[in-house]
Amino acid sequence: MGKSCDIKKMFAPFAPETHKAMDRYTSFRVGGPADILVLPQTMEQVIALAKTAQKAGVPVTILGGGTNVLISDKGVRGLVMVLTRLRQGIEQTAPHMNTGGDSSDQICLTALAGERLGNICRHAADSGLAGLAWAAGIPGTIGGAVMMNAGAFGSDMSQIVMEIEVLDLTTLETTVLPGNRLPFSYRKLALENSIVLKVRLGLAKADPGTVRDEFYRNLKTKQSTQPVSQASAGCYFKNPPGFKPAGFLIEQAGIKNARCNGAMVSDLHANFIVNHGNACASDILNLAVQIRKSVYEKFGITLKEEVKTIGD
Ligand SMILES: Cc1cc2nc3c(=O)[nH]c(=O)nc-3n(C[C@H](O)[C@H](O)[C@H](O)COP(=O)(O)OP(=O)(O)OC[C@H]3O[C@@H](n4cnc5c(N)ncnc54)[C@H](O)[C@@H]3O)c2cc1C
Repeated sequence: MGKSCDIKKMFAPFAPETHKAMDRYTSFRVGGPADILVLPQTMEQVIALAKTAQKAGVPVTILGGGTNVLISDKGVRGLVMVLTRLRQGIEQTAPHMNTGGDSSDQICLTALAGERLGNICRHAADSGLAGLAWAAGIPGTIGGAVMMNAGAFGSDMSQIVMEIEVLDLTTLETTVLPGNRLPFSYRKLALENSIVLKVRLGLAKADPGTVRDEFYRNLKTKQSTQPVSQASAGCYFKNPPGFKPAGFLIEQAGIKNARCNGAMVSDLHANFIVNHGNACASDILNLAVQIRKSVYEKFGITLKEEVKTIGD
């Protein structure tokens, strides 16, 4: 009791919310309480929070838009930083010499990690900048997109990240890392125990009409093939390398429309689990187990989760 009072006092300057249900911070609309929840607005606040957490000995969990996570019903212990307020617009500049920008056709877009990917995407489409139209309709923040190496239509973040500024949660030091040295792989950036604070993307000047057309074409395709208006976390499973996409395998395993209470396999896209309003995290997890089992029995393939499970 005494210790938890001390911890509360240590975080008091950051106006935290305690035991706050996390369902409204995730696109799945599920998730139990966070011990301590803070929504920092500046990089300085993020760094100060990380220092306080280290001093208090509490674990730190980072969320962007919460569009690729499943937070457990028991919630998250320690400090949760939701970074959706860590933004101050999109800066458009010529590339730095030291970030490999050697073409006069190249333009950099820089944003803090909490900027919505959708805003950056629209900025690029409106400014005739090519390289990001594939991301039309992907929700969440630019920081989350970098950490997940978000992708679609055969492209992903690894192809356009010029550099990122990160805070190492162990040393509490910030570093700028060049994009071409980052350990990106399919839907993953292997950066342990770090917070992405700022992202710089390299895009190319192009014909504005062509860029806009591609953006809206991709947006339309996404809206007609995915249940974008329902609560989900996007594709639940990764596509297994060398096989058909996970959605096809799930459909062929005969479990499209399967459900567990309020959680259901989408009838529009079988790799989406949707929350019909009253699902809890355990319903989604149980349905995922059922899907994995059915696909394994039919094809001998073990699907791996793309969605990150967080919490107790
Ligand atoms: C309708 C829908 C459609 C989608 N379509 C696609 C798609 O086409 N392609 C695709 O790749 N994804 C898709 N997604 C999944 C998701 O939107 C992306 O992965 C997105 O980039 C995640 O961003 P986020 O800010 O929501 O991250 P979150 O879900 O908040 O976090 C994801 C992970 O990144 C970590 N993280 C987040 N921000 C930071 C940070 N600043 N520093 C360190 N770690 C961080 C979190 O701890 C977590 O492990 C879709 C989701 C939905 C709901």
